[in-house]
Amino acid sequence: MLKAFRYRLYPTKTQETALLEQLRLCRNLYNCALQERRDAYKKAGKTITGYDQMKHLSEIKEALPEYKGIHSQVLQDVLKRLDKAFKAFFRRIKSGEKPGYPRFQGRDRFDSICYPQSGFSLSDKTAFFSKIGNIRVRLHRPIEGTIKIATIRRECGEWYVSYVCEVEATPLPETGSSVGVDVGTTWFCITSDGEFTQNPRYFQTAMKKLRVAQRSVSRKKNKRSNRRRKAVQHVAKLHRKVSRQRLDFHHRTAVKLVRENDLIAHEGLNVEGMGRGNLARSIHDVGWSQFFSLLSQKAECAARKVIAVDPRYTSQACHQCGHTCKGNRVSQSRFVCMACGHTDNADVNAARNILARALPSVENVGQQVKRPLRSRAHTALAVEPW
Ligand SMILES: [Zn+2]
Repeated sequence: MLKAFRYRLYPTKTQETALLEQLRLCRNLYNCALQERRDAYKKAGKTITGYDQMKHLSEIKEALPEYKGIHSQVLQDVLKRLDKAFKAFFRRIKSGEKPGYPRFQGRDRFDSICYPQSGFSLSDKTAFFSKIGNIRVRLHRPIEGTIKIATIRRECGEWYVSYVCEVEATPLPETGSSVGVDVGTTWFCITSDGEFTQNPRYFQTAMKKLRVAQRSVSRKKNKRSNRRRKAVQHVAKLHRKVSRQRLDFHHRTAVKLVRENDLIAHEGLNVEGMGRGNLARSIHDVGWSQFFSLLSQKAECAARKVIAVDPRYTSQACHQCGHTCKGNRVSQSRFVCMACGHTDNADVNAARNILARALPSVENVGQQVKRPLRSRAHTALAVEPW
């Protein structure tokens, strides 16, 4: 299992200069390699691969000695990143999506260097990186397992390192309960046990401050002025705060679900498709994709199961009798079945349907859902499968 650990780095002035110089050189390499692939295709109709480009790295180092100051695997990783961008581009063309050609990276866009295998080590106080040296690090929590990859990243003028580590899974004791989770914008999530979690709407709360900060940037016409740079940084910091608040909230919500349940079922959402409509802003504010990926990572770590089910009609079907029609949902929150008269909260009803859809697939696989389950949804299913 892989797990990531992120720590703040405190480079000295000299180290910071070295880091910035490495970022600059790596960005140049990326952009030149992109240019080369573009030209080769435009002028000769030839496709150069990332592997072809990697073979030329030693020649580049001979011609431009400044590149000798960078760990060789870091340089290879830059070309790998470009290759990945191209592969994703071709994949999108093939599947008929909007292709999006790989972009040239501006100064503020290219913000990380990666040691994919070796050239780094870590002790209590310092993190060592080949060709940079020992940087002071704050280990706010102990690292686990063996480090596989190290990435140094610059974020709003601060430096961070994230280590991807190979760790052993630590299964949690079974709780004997399963849960269905319905997500929405009014409530962040509603469980089949009738538990409601508020949607904190961090972005909307920060909007007022953001608007003021954004205006202050657009007032400053001189694109190169120091004041404008500072104002831009202020906006970036506000955005960063929102995304950190959201990440923290997602972590806490996911941990709670994973601790309390052996099986968690949620809707397989087409989040991208939803992010385009009227509700786009509030849906982005919620950030379900991040939440679901955290949820499945944590579940994997704790040997719990997460299942994404087909979301169609989960909000219109009656959980008691299975009758499915639009009229069942009387209002945003109330559900009254037109066939059997069953009344419930609309979201809780949907969450129970979600759980009911996930349970058969677990039993088919031969998982251990033999003991009676706490959740009401399961008892209902045992009586009336639909
Ligand atoms: Zn019914």
